[in-house]
Amino acid sequence: MSSSSKFNSIKDSLPHGVSLLAVSKGHHQESIRKLYSFGQLDFGESRLQEAIPKKNDLNDLKQLRWHFVGKLQKNKVRGVVKEFEFIHSVDSLALLERISRISQEEHKKPNIFFQVKLRDDPSKGGFLKQDLLENWSKIISLNNIHLIGLMTIPPIALNSHQRKDLFCECRKLANHLGLKDCSMGMSNDWQEAIECGASWIRLGSLIFGKRQT
Ligand SMILES: *Cc1c(COP(=O)(O)O)cnc(C)c1O
Repeated sequence: MSSSSKFNSIKDSLPHGVSLLAVSKGHHQESIRKLYSFGQLDFGESRLQEAIPKKNDLNDLKQLRWHFVGKLQKNKVRGVVKEFEFIHSVDSLALLERISRISQEEHKKPNIFFQVKLRDDPSKGGFLKQDLLENWSKIISLNNIHLIGLMTIPPIALNSHQRKDLFCECRKLANHLGLKDCSMGMSNDWQEAIECGASWIRLGSLIFGKRQT
């Protein structure tokens, strides 16, 4: 199947309320332009240095919305706040406080997903459930951020049943906190994530093919 018909068949299969984020890291501007011409408006990048030249090149695509999905380093916060409308990977309170402060300085109000770590996983960061719950009153008092949801990535060792348990737990926690969105599900597990209440799925290789860089 060509990448465009694959994109269209996935897009057409999504239930109401589920949005597709096209994760374009490692893919050229022209691939982004092509999907945009099919109506895809949301694109995700995981590195600021890679995103900036792409954004400049695609500046004529006025409806395009950029989402940051990568590990966010302290020294990249200002750049990310200036360049991205959505941040899916806020993994600590210190980082959130910094985003809030810099967003005030830059007159921005990014949409924030908290990355949560619901299982042990040495390869990933994220809030523990307890961290979020204990700090919640402090979190909601911060300015210039729009808290919209949780993001999670299951450890690779999990089987399908275990992944669904994790995704459903993420949905439950989001509901408990009054957050509308769950950003969960990638090329290999997006259908499971949708079954458990994902509102954003993040697809890279499935719609773009193998990464070019
Ligand atoms: C790369 C990436 C994706 C897309 O992964 P695929 O397996 O290629 O669909 C989704 N989310 C994050 C955070 C990523 O870094």
